[in-house]
Amino acid sequence: MADRKFRVVVAGAGVSGLFMAETLKQAGIDFTVYEKAGDVGGTWRDNTFPGLFVDVLSRQYEFPFQPNYHWSRKYAPATEIWDYIRKVTRDRGLRKFIRFNEEITGARFSDGRWRIETAKGSDVADVFVCATGFLHQPKFPDIPGRESFSGPSFHSARWDHSVPYEGKRWGVIGSGASGVQITEALAWAGCDVTQFIRRAQWVHIRENPYSTWRERLKLRLPGGYQREQRRLWDQINELDAWRLYPGELREKMEREYASFLDYIKDPELREKLTPDYNLGCTRIPKSDRNYYEAVQLPNAHIVKGQIDRIEPDGVVMAGGTKVELDVLVYATGFDPHAYMRPMNVTGLNGVTIDEAWKERIYSYGGIGLPSFPNLFMLYGPFAPVNNVPVPLALDQEIGCIMRLIAEARARGATVAPTVAATEKFLSRLDKAFPGTVWTGGCKNWYTSTQPTPVLWPFPQREHKAFFADAPIEDFEFTPTGQAD
Ligand SMILES: Cc1cc2nc3c(=O)[nH]c(=O)nc-3n(C[C@H](O)[C@H](O)[C@H](O)COP(=O)(O)OP(=O)(O)OC[C@H]3O[C@@H](n4cnc5c(N)ncnc54)[C@H](O)[C@@H]3O)c2cc1C
Repeated sequence: MADRKFRVVVAGAGVSGLFMAETLKQAGIDFTVYEKAGDVGGTWRDNTFPGLFVDVLSRQYEFPFQPNYHWSRKYAPATEIWDYIRKVTRDRGLRKFIRFNEEITGARFSDGRWRIETAKGSDVADVFVCATGFLHQPKFPDIPGRESFSGPSFHSARWDHSVPYEGKRWGVIGSGASGVQITEALAWAGCDVTQFIRRAQWVHIRENPYSTWRERLKLRLPGGYQREQRRLWDQINELDAWRLYPGELREKMEREYASFLDYIKDPELREKLTPDYNLGCTRIPKSDRNYYEAVQLPNAHIVKGQIDRIEPDGVVMAGGTKVELDVLVYATGFDPHAYMRPMNVTGLNGVTIDEAWKERIYSYGGIGLPSFPNLFMLYGPFAPVNNVPVPLALDQEIGCIMRLIAEARARGATVAPTVAATEKFLSRLDKAFPGTVWTGGCKNWYTSTQPTPVLWPFPQREHKAFFADAPIEDFEFTPTGQAD
């Protein structure tokens, strides 16, 4: 490898891909990022629907290498997050490393390197990093007549801003985080809005104050204040462990969330919006403008049940009730198990990712796979850590990946987790899930058809420890040239 330049290719320029890019740049490693869209930001570029705010503290949704002292609110609106991501890209000079509007369609490991196919050409890399997102491919419900709707209709991740709010009857299908935030925003904007839900969600009614100039000034103070903030964040992240074990804290959380339902005065509406499963089993929608009050406005309606079909002018429920609509929004989520697909990824001995994941989607720590040397994933299977901010978990994943890359280069080898270490990791996960909120019997996108949810069932400190101390024996190093 010494006679040519070591090179990394990254797929995707969202938060993960940009974090990786800056890290590679700082390490002086040659790399290119391919981004299928025309701009950076991923989630924050694609999701521009009204009412979207970050669900963790704004300050926690920062790259550790570039603090932002200008967040307008405790939980920033999505537009600010996207602006921040674009600013980081500019400030760090990352744009020149990104090839926009060029999707990676396939990658094959051959002769010790990754042969990358893109929509426009090809590339070769020693290391291939998939930063393609875990909530990226919009999912539509399988409802008859969907194509027949005559008005504007779109997925929440493809909001059509040419459609005026006023004078329209809006329908929002979905009760997850997006559905809640959109319904709330449209209702407060005075639109006639009907939200179609199959199941009620637990909703976190929270305050979202504007930051004061005094707070913003304090953020710039070195020393004590910053340390105090970090200590507080660690506490917040650890408190999230209520999802992991039954006990006092979980009961307290359940009581608190049940009390939010007291905002609903009408018993029939309250009944409709009362969840029938344990708190935390699905990702909890955050409401900054009191969703429960919003849906009691005369212009807001909740329709619960199965949708039978969609007609040109509205939605027909299984019982025959028809709701006439002018605009239809699908807040129906994403395919959380797509990961880098539909890209074709082929590892050792011609094994494809589809074949590897046929029985079960798996990984070692969400970052690697046996038989796929020098392939890394950011936020791959089992990576989402409770409600821990994505940049924080990325910091830990990327730190580990960079150590592995350095070790492999030093040995003149490729690196992949061993089968034994991966099996050990999976069996540790399998044992950890019983007793967590995700095994409370509800359906959630983390699980779907998988034997366990594809997220991290341990406290965040164990995530940190896992990546900081990942034993080198968990990895197989194969001298370059002998692989394939
Ligand atoms: C509506 C919504 C709200 C969210 N809110 C929060 C929140 O409040 N807090 C939080 O921590 N997380 C939140 N998340 C999760 C969010 O996805 C992550 O925080 C983070 O943005 C993920 O970044 P990423 O770079 O891994 O993936 P993405 O942001 O999905 O970016 C992936 C990028 O890869 C590109 N790409 C994909 N495939 C290819 C290919 N084959 N070739 C080239 N490019 C490709 C995509 O175009 C995209 O730009 C939210 C997600 C959604 C959908």
